[in-house]
Amino acid sequence: MSRTLIRGGTLLTADEAQPVLHDGYLLIDGDTIVDVGTGAPPSDGVDEVLDATGMLVTPGFVNAHTHLCMIYGRNLGTDRGLLHWLSEAQVPLMGALEPEDYEVSMQLGAIENLLAGNTTICEVFFSPHYDQGVDALAARALDRSGIRSVFIRCANDESFFDGFVERREDIVERSERLIAEFQAAARTTIGVGPLIPWGSSAESFRDAVELSSRHGALIHLHTAETPEYNALVQERTGRSNVEMLADVGALGDSVMLNHCVHLSEHDIELIADSGTHVIHDPTSNMLLASGVSPVPRLREAGINVGLACDGPACNNAQDMIEAMKDAALLHKVTSGEAETLVANDVFLMATRNGARSIGLGGRLGVLAEGHLADVVLVDARAPHLTPMNNELAALVYSARGADVHTVLVDGRVVVRDGAVTTLDEQAIRAHAQERAERARSIAGV
Ligand SMILES: [Zn+2]
Repeated sequence: MSRTLIRGGTLLTADEAQPVLHDGYLLIDGDTIVDVGTGAPPSDGVDEVLDATGMLVTPGFVNAHTHLCMIYGRNLGTDRGLLHWLSEAQVPLMGALEPEDYEVSMQLGAIENLLAGNTTICEVFFSPHYDQGVDALAARALDRSGIRSVFIRCANDESFFDGFVERREDIVERSERLIAEFQAAARTTIGVGPLIPWGSSAESFRDAVELSSRHGALIHLHTAETPEYNALVQERTGRSNVEMLADVGALGDSVMLNHCVHLSEHDIELIADSGTHVIHDPTSNMLLASGVSPVPRLREAGINVGLACDGPACNNAQDMIEAMKDAALLHKVTSGEAETLVANDVFLMATRNGARSIGLGGRLGVLAEGHLADVVLVDARAPHLTPMNNELAALVYSARGADVHTVLVDGRVVVRDGAVTTLDEQAIRAHAQERAERARSIAGV
């Protein structure tokens, strides 16, 4: 196993015991951090030394909700609300995809995420082409990219847009096949979940709960995203979105609820009492005018809240540093209190809390001994990061994803000096541009 030493930088550890370490070092053995400290680092038996002088060293960011399957739709149909954005641009475009496009989308999206220091993503995948095995193609492409991912295979058994509805028994059978294929994979795990709360039968939600308990798969659900979505759920079930989930047993520690914008106090109680995780997507909530999730209230209720960019077509980027800043600013201006969601709060949401939401609490998201070596070096030798008065505030409020210099996943260097080492960025960008133009012209969008 190879040993890597990162030395000379300022470590932002996300560890309460020693949150900031100046002139710190990090020793990695294989995929695990084995030593964290300051001063003279151990040098025996080290295969590679990464010099982090002038850099901030942080845990890899956990982008806990994205849709790379929609990456061709970046900046298409923007400045519209959720349902219009979907029906007028995104859904027709996805209908024109071919199996090859899912691989290209995952490769391009993995590159974008890795370059921004997002070492883990939850890919909330959906497709009208499941009969062509595109779920496995996409999950394999993500796995090969070197990123850590929870690949969430989503569908609806009753209603969504034409071509996107999958038979209940197919959802279960195909999900099990995918789970079996990735059972032994270290970095890629499979999650499940109906895609949207108003498109699936109660039985299909129960199927997801059963898949989760049988295989340990995470459940990941869009929840209470807009008033329209909530009204559709109410109409179908006579319950709020969260109450409906409680009815079918779809709350708990292995469940991630994404968005949670429009919640009642009763909904918040149900989420808190069940230990369910919430994922916050400030940028897409603002862009689609979905509303403001009551994140400070959720945190006060003891709920674990992670952070996400949402898809490249509804953000329209994959920059978790930007998402941290957006989250902090959104809740400050909404509450009228600058003390709401401070830099450290959003930093922990982007790292430790996200890791916990995917079942890797205590193993990921912190620079500490025994944790998986997903590490990001942010180059602070730039005018917009000078002078360096407060490293944490600099990361959240001044840095950008483009400042990311080096990225390790499982101790392996996947970005070096701002370039991805696992994939050919230039070739994939050119290919993606060409394939996206083809899909656009077929879809007429
Ligand atoms: Zn989403």
